[in-house]
Amino acid sequence: MSRARVTWARTVAQVGLEAREVTVEVHVSGGLPGFHVIGSSGAPAREAADRVRTALAASGLAVGSRKVLISLAPADVPKLGARFDLPTALAVCAQLEVLGQEALRDVVLLGELALDGTVRPVPGVLPSAVHAARTGVRRLVVARGNAAEAALASGVDVAAVADLTEAVAVLGGAPARPIEPPAAPPSPRARGDLAEVRGQLEARRALEIAAAGGHHLLLIGPPGCGKSMLASRLPTILPPLDDAAALELAAIRSVAGLLDGVTLDRTPPFRAPHHSASAAALLGGGAGVARPGEVSLATHGVLFLDELLEWPRRLLDALREPLEEGVVRIARSRASVAYPAAAQLVAAANPCPCGGGRRCVCREADVARYRARLSGPLADRIDLAPTVTPVGAADLLAAEEGEPSAAVAARVAAAREASALRQGRGVRNAEADAVTLRASARPAALAQLAAAVDAGLLTARGHDRALRVARTCADLGGVDAIDADHAAEALGHRLALPEAVAG
Ligand SMILES: [Zn+2]
Repeated sequence: MSRARVTWARTVAQVGLEAREVTVEVHVSGGLPGFHVIGSSGAPAREAADRVRTALAASGLAVGSRKVLISLAPADVPKLGARFDLPTALAVCAQLEVLGQEALRDVVLLGELALDGTVRPVPGVLPSAVHAARTGVRRLVVARGNAAEAALASGVDVAAVADLTEAVAVLGGAPARPIEPPAAPPSPRARGDLAEVRGQLEARRALEIAAAGGHHLLLIGPPGCGKSMLASRLPTILPPLDDAAALELAAIRSVAGLLDGVTLDRTPPFRAPHHSASAAALLGGGAGVARPGEVSLATHGVLFLDELLEWPRRLLDALREPLEEGVVRIARSRASVAYPAAAQLVAAANPCPCGGGRRCVCREADVARYRARLSGPLADRIDLAPTVTPVGAADLLAAEEGEPSAAVAARVAAAREASALRQGRGVRNAEADAVTLRASARPAALAQLAAAVDAGLLTARGHDRALRVARTCADLGGVDAIDADHAAEALGHRLALPEAVAG
Protein backbone atom coordinates (compact mmCIF):
# COMPACT_ATOMS: atom_id res chain seq x y z
CA MET A 1 0.00 0.00 0.00
CA SER A 2 1.36 3.38 -0.96
CA ARG A 3 2.09 5.87 1.74
CA ALA A 4 -1.14 7.79 2.37
CA ARG A 5 -0.96 11.51 1.80
CA VAL A 6 -2.46 14.23 3.92
CA THR A 7 -4.84 16.77 2.40
CA TRP A 8 -5.74 20.08 3.95
CA ALA A 9 -8.02 23.11 3.80
CA ARG A 10 -7.67 26.60 5.23
CA THR A 11 -10.13 28.29 7.54
CA VAL A 12 -10.24 30.97 10.22
CA ALA A 13 -11.21 30.66 13.90
CA GLN A 14 -12.85 33.61 15.61
CA VAL A 15 -11.78 34.23 19.23
CA GLY A 16 -13.89 37.25 20.04
CA LEU A 17 -12.92 39.88 17.48
CA GLU A 18 -9.56 38.21 16.93
CA ALA A 19 -9.30 36.05 13.82
CA ARG A 20 -6.80 33.15 13.86
CA GLU A 21 -5.79 31.03 10.92
CA VAL A 22 -6.56 27.33 11.23
CA THR A 23 -5.57 24.48 8.94
CA VAL A 24 -7.73 21.38 8.75
CA GLU A 25 -5.67 18.33 7.85
CA VAL A 26 -7.25 15.05 6.84
CA HIS A 27 -5.79 11.61 6.53
CA VAL A 28 -7.81 8.59 5.38
CA SER A 29 -6.42 5.13 5.98
CA GLY A 30 -7.48 1.54 6.14
CA GLY A 31 -7.50 1.39 9.95
CA LEU A 32 -10.48 0.84 12.20
CA PRO A 33 -13.38 2.70 10.51
CA GLY A 34 -14.44 5.97 12.05
CA PHE A 35 -14.09 9.74 12.10
CA HIS A 36 -11.61 11.07 14.64
CA VAL A 37 -10.90 14.71 15.38
CA ILE A 38 -7.69 15.95 17.00
CA GLY A 39 -7.01 19.54 18.05
CA SER A 40 -10.60 20.01 19.18
CA SER A 41 -12.29 17.99 21.88
CA GLY A 42 -15.50 17.06 23.61
CA ALA A 43 -19.04 16.58 22.44
CA PRO A 44 -18.94 19.48 19.92
CA ALA A 45 -16.00 17.85 18.09
CA ARG A 46 -17.77 14.49 17.97
CA GLU A 47 -20.95 16.16 16.74
CA ALA A 48 -18.97 18.00 14.06
CA ALA A 49 -17.45 14.71 12.89
CA ASP A 50 -20.95 13.18 12.68
CA ARG A 51 -22.30 16.17 10.72
CA VAL A 52 -19.43 16.08 8.24
CA ARG A 53 -19.61 12.31 7.72
CA THR A 54 -23.40 12.39 7.21
CA ALA A 55 -23.30 15.46 4.95
CA LEU A 56 -20.62 13.84 2.79
CA ALA A 57 -22.67 10.65 2.47
CA ALA A 58 -25.83 12.64 1.65
CA SER A 59 -23.86 14.40 -1.10
CA GLY A 60 -22.75 11.11 -2.64
CA LEU A 61 -19.26 11.40 -1.19
CA ALA A 62 -19.25 8.54 1.32
CA VAL A 63 -15.88 7.68 2.80
CA GLY A 64 -16.82 4.05 3.25
CA SER A 65 -15.37 1.82 5.95
CA ARG A 66 -12.12 3.64 6.44
CA LYS A 67 -10.41 5.51 9.21
CA VAL A 68 -10.61 9.28 8.81
CA LEU A 69 -8.28 11.31 10.98
CA ILE A 70 -8.99 15.05 11.15
CA SER A 71 -6.59 17.50 12.74
CA LEU A 72 -7.33 21.17 13.40
CA ALA A 73 -4.12 23.09 13.90
CA PRO A 74 -2.71 24.96 15.74
CA ALA A 75 -3.99 23.09 18.77
CA ASP A 76 -3.91 26.09 21.11
CA VAL A 77 -6.55 28.08 19.18
CA PRO A 78 -10.03 27.52 20.66
CA LYS A 79 -12.11 26.05 17.85
CA LEU A 80 -15.67 26.62 18.80
CA GLY A 81 -18.70 26.69 16.60
CA ALA A 82 -19.57 24.72 13.52
CA ARG A 83 -17.66 26.87 11.03
CA PHE A 84 -15.02 24.15 10.50
CA ASP A 85 -17.50 21.68 8.99
CA LEU A 86 -17.11 22.97 5.42
CA PRO A 87 -13.28 23.03 5.34
CA THR A 88 -13.21 19.60 6.97
CA ALA A 89 -15.57 18.12 4.40
CA LEU A 90 -13.61 19.67 1.52
CA ALA A 91 -10.28 18.41 2.85
CA VAL A 92 -11.91 14.96 2.91
CA CYS A 93 -13.01 15.54 -0.71
CA ALA A 94 -9.39 16.22 -1.64
CA GLN A 95 -8.49 12.99 0.12
CA LEU A 96 -11.14 11.17 -1.96
CA GLU A 97 -9.70 12.88 -5.05
CA VAL A 98 -13.08 14.39 -5.87
CA LEU A 99 -11.15 17.65 -5.76
CA GLY A 100 -7.48 18.39 -6.37
CA GLN A 101 -5.50 19.74 -3.42
CA GLU A 102 -4.50 22.59 -5.72
CA ALA A 103 -8.15 23.77 -5.77
CA LEU A 104 -7.95 24.49 -2.02
CA ARG A 105 -4.80 26.60 -2.18
CA ASP A 106 -5.28 30.24 -1.10
CA VAL A 107 -8.93 29.55 -0.35
CA VAL A 108 -10.54 30.08 3.06
CA LEU A 109 -13.67 28.07 3.84
CA LEU A 110 -16.26 28.84 6.50
CA GLY A 111 -19.58 27.14 7.06
CA GLU A 112 -21.67 24.73 9.05
CA LEU A 113 -23.03 21.61 7.36
CA ALA A 114 -26.55 20.35 7.78
CA LEU A 115 -26.95 16.58 7.63
CA ASP A 116 -28.26 16.82 4.06
CA GLY A 117 -25.17 18.71 2.89
CA THR A 118 -26.65 22.21 3.01
CA VAL A 119 -24.10 24.87 3.96
CA ARG A 120 -25.43 27.00 6.79
CA PRO A 121 -24.33 30.52 7.79
CA VAL A 122 -22.19 30.98 10.91
CA PRO A 123 -21.60 34.03 13.14
CA GLY A 124 -18.42 36.11 12.96
CA VAL A 125 -17.88 35.87 9.20
CA LEU A 126 -17.09 39.57 8.69
CA PRO A 127 -13.97 39.77 10.92
CA SER A 128 -12.80 36.43 9.47
CA ALA A 129 -13.27 37.80 5.94
CA VAL A 130 -11.35 40.97 6.80
CA HIS A 131 -8.55 38.79 8.15
CA ALA A 132 -8.55 36.63 5.02
CA ALA A 133 -8.37 39.70 2.80
CA ARG A 134 -5.45 41.09 4.80
CA THR A 135 -3.48 37.86 4.59
CA GLY A 136 -3.69 37.69 0.81
CA VAL A 137 -6.25 34.92 0.52
CA ARG A 138 -7.57 34.68 -3.03
CA ARG A 139 -11.03 33.43 -2.33
CA LEU A 140 -13.49 33.00 0.48
CA VAL A 141 -16.20 30.33 0.29
CA VAL A 142 -19.16 30.79 2.63
CA ALA A 143 -22.85 29.94 2.97
CA ARG A 144 -25.24 31.98 0.86
CA GLY A 145 -26.63 33.55 4.01
CA ASN A 146 -23.17 34.88 4.89
CA ALA A 147 -22.26 36.17 1.43
CA ALA A 148 -23.43 39.77 1.75
CA GLU A 149 -21.72 40.09 5.11
CA ALA A 150 -18.45 38.58 3.82
CA ALA A 151 -18.53 40.95 0.85
CA LEU A 152 -18.29 43.93 3.24
CA ALA A 153 -14.60 43.01 3.55
CA SER A 154 -13.02 44.38 0.42
CA GLY A 155 -10.06 42.71 -1.28
CA VAL A 156 -11.21 39.11 -1.36
CA ASP A 157 -13.37 37.26 -3.86
CA VAL A 158 -16.42 35.83 -2.10
CA ALA A 159 -18.12 32.70 -3.42
CA ALA A 160 -21.43 31.75 -1.85
CA VAL A 161 -22.53 28.14 -1.96
CA ALA A 162 -25.85 26.51 -1.11
CA ASP A 163 -24.51 23.05 -0.38
CA LEU A 164 -21.49 20.80 -0.34
CA THR A 165 -22.03 19.68 -3.95
CA GLU A 166 -21.97 23.29 -5.13
CA ALA A 167 -18.86 23.96 -3.05
CA VAL A 168 -17.05 21.08 -4.78
CA ALA A 169 -18.21 22.32 -8.20
CA VAL A 170 -17.18 25.94 -7.57
CA LEU A 171 -13.77 24.94 -6.23
CA GLY A 172 -13.38 22.64 -9.24
CA GLY A 173 -13.75 25.63 -11.53
CA ALA A 174 -17.50 25.99 -12.09
CA PRO A 175 -18.65 29.63 -12.10
CA ALA A 176 -20.02 30.80 -8.76
CA ARG A 177 -23.54 32.14 -8.80
CA PRO A 178 -23.72 35.90 -8.24
CA ILE A 179 -24.34 36.99 -4.69
CA GLU A 180 -27.99 37.87 -4.31
CA PRO A 181 -28.88 40.86 -2.24
CA PRO A 182 -31.18 39.91 0.65
CA ALA A 183 -34.89 40.00 -0.14
CA ALA A 184 -35.53 43.25 1.70
CA PRO A 185 -32.88 45.98 1.65
CA PRO A 186 -32.06 47.17 5.15
CA SER A 187 -34.33 50.06 6.00
CA PRO A 188 -32.75 53.09 7.58
CA ARG A 189 -33.33 52.61 11.26
CA ALA A 190 -36.22 54.70 12.35
CA ARG A 191 -34.87 56.58 15.34
CA GLY A 192 -37.13 59.56 15.23
CA ASP A 193 -35.97 63.14 15.29
CA LEU A 194 -35.37 65.77 17.92
CA ALA A 195 -38.08 67.84 16.22
CA GLU A 196 -40.58 65.55 17.96
CA VAL A 197 -39.32 66.67 21.37
CA ARG A 198 -41.33 69.77 22.28
CA GLY A 199 -40.15 72.15 24.94
CA GLN A 200 -37.48 70.54 27.19
CA LEU A 201 -34.97 73.28 26.43
CA GLU A 202 -32.67 72.36 29.31
CA ALA A 203 -32.57 68.67 28.38
CA ARG A 204 -32.15 69.41 24.68
CA ARG A 205 -29.18 71.66 25.40
CA ALA A 206 -27.61 69.01 27.65
CA LEU A 207 -28.11 66.39 24.93
CA GLU A 208 -26.33 68.65 22.44
CA ILE A 209 -23.40 69.22 24.83
CA ALA A 210 -23.22 65.49 25.53
CA ALA A 211 -23.10 64.74 21.80
CA ALA A 212 -20.45 67.38 21.09
CA GLY A 213 -18.11 66.49 23.94
CA GLY A 214 -18.82 62.80 24.54
CA HIS A 215 -19.98 63.51 28.08
CA HIS A 216 -22.05 60.98 30.00
CA LEU A 217 -25.55 62.15 30.86
CA LEU A 218 -28.19 61.54 33.52
CA LEU A 219 -31.77 62.53 32.70
CA ILE A 220 -33.85 63.24 35.82
CA GLY A 221 -37.61 63.44 35.58
CA PRO A 222 -40.88 61.70 36.49
CA PRO A 223 -42.13 58.68 34.56
CA GLY A 224 -43.61 59.46 31.16
CA CYS A 225 -41.93 62.83 30.77
CA GLY A 226 -39.95 61.75 27.72
CA LYS A 227 -36.57 60.63 29.09
CA SER A 228 -36.41 57.56 26.83
CA MET A 229 -37.49 59.62 23.85
CA LEU A 230 -34.73 62.16 24.48
CA ALA A 231 -32.10 59.47 25.02
CA SER A 232 -33.04 57.63 21.84
CA ARG A 233 -32.58 60.85 19.83
CA LEU A 234 -28.92 61.20 20.86
CA PRO A 235 -27.68 59.00 17.97
CA THR A 236 -29.52 61.30 15.53
CA ILE A 237 -27.24 64.21 16.45
CA LEU A 238 -23.96 62.28 16.78
CA PRO A 239 -21.57 62.34 13.80
CA PRO A 240 -21.89 59.29 11.51
CA LEU A 241 -19.31 56.56 12.10
CA ASP A 242 -16.13 56.65 10.02
CA ASP A 243 -14.90 53.57 8.11
CA ALA A 244 -12.87 52.12 10.98
CA ALA A 245 -15.63 52.58 13.57
CA ALA A 246 -18.36 51.26 11.27
CA LEU A 247 -16.30 48.18 10.43
CA GLU A 248 -15.48 47.56 14.09
CA LEU A 249 -19.14 47.80 15.05
CA ALA A 250 -20.11 45.50 12.16
CA ALA A 251 -17.50 42.97 13.35
CA ILE A 252 -18.97 43.05 16.87
CA ARG A 253 -22.46 42.52 15.46
CA SER A 254 -21.15 39.72 13.26
CA VAL A 255 -19.59 37.86 16.20
CA ALA A 256 -22.84 38.37 18.12
CA GLY A 257 -24.78 36.95 15.15
CA LEU A 258 -26.69 40.23 14.79
CA LEU A 259 -25.33 41.59 11.53
CA ASP A 260 -28.18 41.88 9.07
CA GLY A 261 -27.25 44.66 6.68
CA VAL A 262 -25.50 44.51 3.34
CA THR A 263 -24.03 47.98 3.57
CA LEU A 264 -21.83 49.27 6.33
CA ASP A 265 -24.12 50.89 8.91
CA ARG A 266 -22.73 54.28 9.88
CA THR A 267 -25.48 55.18 12.34
CA PRO A 268 -24.21 55.27 15.92
CA PRO A 269 -25.92 52.40 17.74
CA PHE A 270 -28.48 52.85 20.52
CA ARG A 271 -28.81 50.03 23.03
CA ALA A 272 -31.29 50.10 25.89
CA PRO A 273 -30.92 46.95 28.00
CA HIS A 274 -33.48 46.37 30.77
CA HIS A 275 -32.40 46.51 34.41
CA SER A 276 -33.15 42.80 34.71
CA ALA A 277 -30.41 42.02 32.15
CA SER A 278 -27.83 39.45 33.21
CA ALA A 279 -24.16 40.27 33.57
CA ALA A 280 -23.48 38.17 30.46
CA ALA A 281 -26.05 40.10 28.43
CA LEU A 282 -24.72 43.45 29.59
CA LEU A 283 -20.96 42.85 29.59
CA GLY A 284 -20.58 39.82 27.33
CA GLY A 285 -20.44 36.12 28.06
CA GLY A 286 -22.08 32.83 27.24
CA ALA A 287 -20.66 29.37 26.71
CA GLY A 288 -17.35 28.84 24.94
CA VAL A 289 -15.79 32.03 23.64
CA ALA A 290 -17.72 34.89 25.23
CA ARG A 291 -20.04 36.81 22.95
CA PRO A 292 -20.19 40.61 23.06
CA GLY A 293 -22.68 42.20 25.44
CA GLU A 294 -24.78 45.35 25.31
CA VAL A 295 -21.87 47.58 26.31
CA SER A 296 -19.96 46.40 23.22
CA LEU A 297 -22.97 46.49 20.91
CA ALA A 298 -23.30 50.14 21.99
CA THR A 299 -19.70 50.92 20.99
CA HIS A 300 -19.38 54.23 19.10
CA GLY A 301 -22.96 54.95 20.14
CA VAL A 302 -25.21 55.15 23.16
CA LEU A 303 -25.83 52.81 26.09
CA PHE A 304 -29.10 53.85 27.74
CA LEU A 305 -29.73 52.69 31.30
CA ASP A 306 -33.29 53.61 32.18
CA GLU A 307 -34.40 53.52 35.84
CA LEU A 308 -30.81 53.71 37.01
CA LEU A 309 -31.72 52.98 40.64
CA GLU A 310 -33.41 49.70 39.70
CA TRP A 311 -30.13 48.33 38.34
CA PRO A 312 -28.26 45.94 40.65
CA ARG A 313 -25.26 47.68 42.12
CA ARG A 314 -22.88 44.90 41.10
CA LEU A 315 -23.78 45.40 37.43
CA LEU A 316 -23.22 49.14 37.60
CA ASP A 317 -19.91 48.52 39.38
CA ALA A 318 -18.93 46.07 36.66
CA LEU A 319 -19.70 48.68 33.97
CA ARG A 320 -17.35 51.29 35.43
CA GLU A 321 -14.06 49.96 34.15
CA PRO A 322 -15.24 49.08 30.62
CA LEU A 323 -16.79 52.53 30.17
CA GLU A 324 -13.65 54.19 31.50
CA GLU A 325 -11.19 52.18 29.42
CA GLY A 326 -13.38 51.66 26.35
CA VAL A 327 -12.77 47.93 26.47
CA VAL A 328 -14.36 45.00 28.29
CA ARG A 329 -12.31 41.91 29.11
CA ILE A 330 -14.03 38.60 29.66
CA ALA A 331 -11.99 35.72 31.03
CA ARG A 332 -12.99 32.16 30.22
CA SER A 333 -11.15 28.92 30.78
CA ARG A 334 -10.86 28.27 27.05
CA ALA A 335 -10.23 31.78 25.82
CA SER A 336 -10.16 35.28 27.24
CA VAL A 337 -11.46 37.91 24.92
CA ALA A 338 -11.57 41.69 24.83
CA TYR A 339 -14.31 43.62 23.09
CA PRO A 340 -14.56 47.37 22.53
CA ALA A 341 -16.86 49.14 24.99
CA ALA A 342 -16.54 52.74 23.90
CA ALA A 343 -20.15 53.64 24.58
CA GLN A 344 -21.56 56.93 25.69
CA LEU A 345 -23.69 56.46 28.79
CA VAL A 346 -27.12 57.98 29.13
CA ALA A 347 -28.86 57.09 32.39
CA ALA A 348 -32.32 58.07 33.52
CA ALA A 349 -33.91 58.27 36.95
CA ASN A 350 -36.99 59.59 38.70
CA PRO A 351 -36.44 62.71 40.81
CA CYS A 352 -37.78 61.13 44.01
CA PRO A 353 -39.05 57.81 45.43
CA CYS A 354 -42.70 58.37 44.41
CA GLY A 355 -41.71 59.13 40.86
CA GLY A 356 -42.22 62.82 41.32
CA GLY A 357 -44.15 65.03 39.07
CA ARG A 358 -46.69 67.58 40.15
CA ARG A 359 -48.25 65.43 42.82
CA CYS A 360 -45.05 64.49 44.67
CA VAL A 361 -45.80 63.50 48.23
CA CYS A 362 -42.26 62.62 49.32
CA ARG A 363 -40.77 63.95 52.53
CA GLU A 364 -37.60 65.98 52.15
CA ALA A 365 -35.51 63.43 54.04
CA ASP A 366 -36.70 60.62 51.77
CA VAL A 367 -35.83 62.63 48.68
CA ALA A 368 -32.37 63.34 50.08
CA ARG A 369 -31.80 59.65 50.80
CA TYR A 370 -32.99 58.76 47.32
CA ARG A 371 -30.73 61.34 45.70
CA ALA A 372 -27.78 60.01 47.70
CA ARG A 373 -28.36 56.61 46.09
CA LEU A 374 -27.96 58.26 42.69
CA SER A 375 -24.43 59.10 43.70
CA GLY A 376 -23.58 55.42 43.63
CA PRO A 377 -21.46 53.68 41.07
CA LEU A 378 -21.16 55.29 37.64
CA ALA A 379 -22.55 58.61 38.83
CA ASP A 380 -19.08 60.10 39.17
CA ARG A 381 -18.64 59.51 35.45
CA ILE A 382 -21.64 61.70 34.67
CA ASP A 383 -21.17 65.34 33.70
CA LEU A 384 -24.66 66.51 32.87
CA ALA A 385 -27.92 65.95 34.70
CA PRO A 386 -30.71 67.98 33.12
CA THR A 387 -34.20 67.98 34.57
CA VAL A 388 -36.80 66.65 32.19
CA THR A 389 -40.17 68.19 32.97
CA PRO A 390 -43.55 66.62 32.38
CA VAL A 391 -45.25 68.24 29.44
CA GLY A 392 -49.01 68.55 29.78
CA ALA A 393 -51.44 68.02 26.93
CA ALA A 394 -52.09 71.76 26.68
CA ASP A 395 -48.32 72.45 26.54
CA LEU A 396 -47.94 69.85 23.83
CA LEU A 397 -50.52 71.52 21.65
CA ALA A 398 -49.14 74.96 22.27
CA ALA A 399 -45.44 74.20 22.00
CA GLU A 400 -43.84 74.50 18.61
CA GLU A 401 -41.96 71.60 17.12
CA GLY A 402 -38.42 71.42 18.37
CA GLU A 403 -35.37 72.13 16.27
CA PRO A 404 -34.77 69.12 13.98
CA SER A 405 -31.88 66.70 14.56
CA ALA A 406 -30.10 67.73 11.37
CA ALA A 407 -29.65 71.33 12.56
CA VAL A 408 -28.33 70.22 15.96
CA ALA A 409 -26.10 67.59 14.33
CA ALA A 410 -24.46 70.31 12.21
CA ARG A 411 -23.45 72.27 15.35
CA VAL A 412 -22.25 69.06 17.01
CA ALA A 413 -20.13 68.19 13.95
CA ALA A 414 -18.58 71.67 13.91
CA ALA A 415 -17.78 71.44 17.63
CA ARG A 416 -16.24 67.97 17.15
CA GLU A 417 -14.14 69.39 14.31
CA ALA A 418 -12.87 72.19 16.57
CA SER A 419 -11.92 69.75 19.33
CA ALA A 420 -10.23 67.42 16.82
CA LEU A 421 -8.09 70.31 15.55
CA ARG A 422 -7.06 71.16 19.10
CA GLN A 423 -6.47 67.76 20.69
CA GLY A 424 -6.47 65.28 17.82
CA ARG A 425 -9.15 63.13 16.28
CA GLY A 426 -10.54 60.49 18.57
CA VAL A 427 -10.05 62.55 21.76
CA ARG A 428 -13.35 64.11 22.70
CA ASN A 429 -13.52 66.86 25.30
CA ALA A 430 -14.75 64.37 27.91
CA GLU A 431 -11.39 62.59 27.60
CA ALA A 432 -9.20 65.66 27.05
CA ASP A 433 -6.34 66.57 29.32
CA ALA A 434 -7.53 69.21 31.80
CA VAL A 435 -4.16 70.97 31.93
CA THR A 436 -4.26 71.51 28.17
CA LEU A 437 -7.84 72.75 28.38
CA ARG A 438 -6.92 75.31 31.08
CA ALA A 439 -4.61 76.94 28.53
CA SER A 440 -7.63 77.73 26.36
CA ALA A 441 -9.67 79.34 29.16
CA ARG A 442 -9.89 83.04 29.96
CA PRO A 443 -8.90 84.12 33.49
CA ALA A 444 -12.52 85.02 34.31
CA ALA A 445 -13.66 81.49 33.47
CA LEU A 446 -10.93 79.92 35.58
CA ALA A 447 -11.71 82.30 38.44
CA GLN A 448 -15.34 81.27 38.38
CA LEU A 449 -14.48 77.57 38.58
CA ALA A 450 -11.89 78.24 41.30
CA ALA A 451 -14.49 80.12 43.33
CA ALA A 452 -16.79 77.10 43.18
CA VAL A 453 -13.97 74.96 44.55
CA ASP A 454 -13.24 77.49 47.30
CA ALA A 455 -16.91 77.54 48.24
CA GLY A 456 -16.79 73.76 48.65
CA LEU A 457 -19.19 73.19 45.75
CA LEU A 458 -16.64 71.35 43.64
CA THR A 459 -13.77 68.99 44.33
CA ALA A 460 -10.60 69.16 42.26
CA ARG A 461 -11.91 66.35 40.09
CA GLY A 462 -15.32 68.01 39.76
CA HIS A 463 -13.48 71.17 38.71
CA ASP A 464 -11.74 69.35 35.85
CA ARG A 465 -14.97 67.74 34.72
CA ALA A 466 -16.74 71.12 34.71
CA LEU A 467 -13.81 72.57 32.73
CA ARG A 468 -14.28 69.89 30.07
CA VAL A 469 -17.99 70.67 29.78
CA ALA A 470 -17.17 74.41 29.56
CA ARG A 471 -14.77 73.59 26.73
CA THR A 472 -17.59 71.82 24.89
CA CYS A 473 -19.91 74.82 25.41
CA ALA A 474 -17.23 77.09 23.90
CA ASP A 475 -16.74 74.71 20.96
CA LEU A 476 -20.50 74.70 20.33
CA GLY A 477 -20.39 78.48 20.39
CA GLY A 478 -17.63 78.40 17.80
CA VAL A 479 -15.11 80.33 19.94
CA ASP A 480 -11.49 79.54 20.75
CA ALA A 481 -11.40 80.63 24.37
CA ILE A 482 -13.55 79.34 27.24
CA ASP A 483 -15.10 82.45 28.80
CA ALA A 484 -17.09 83.12 31.96
CA ASP A 485 -20.43 82.29 30.32
CA HIS A 486 -19.23 78.83 29.33
CA ALA A 487 -17.88 78.22 32.82
CA ALA A 488 -21.18 79.35 34.30
CA GLU A 489 -23.17 77.03 32.07
CA ALA A 490 -20.89 74.09 32.91
CA LEU A 491 -21.19 74.86 36.61
CA GLY A 492 -24.96 74.97 36.28
CA HIS A 493 -24.98 71.47 34.82
CA ARG A 494 -22.46 70.20 37.36
CA LEU A 495 -24.34 71.59 40.34
CA ALA A 496 -27.61 70.18 39.02
CA LEU A 497 -26.18 66.73 39.65
CA PRO A 498 -27.31 64.97 42.79
CA GLU A 499 -25.37 66.64 45.59
CA ALA A 500 -22.93 63.89 46.39
CA VAL A 501 -22.06 63.51 42.73
CA ALA A 502 -21.41 67.08 41.75
CA GLY A 503 -18.10 67.36 43.59
ZN1 LIG B 1 -41.95 62.20 45.22
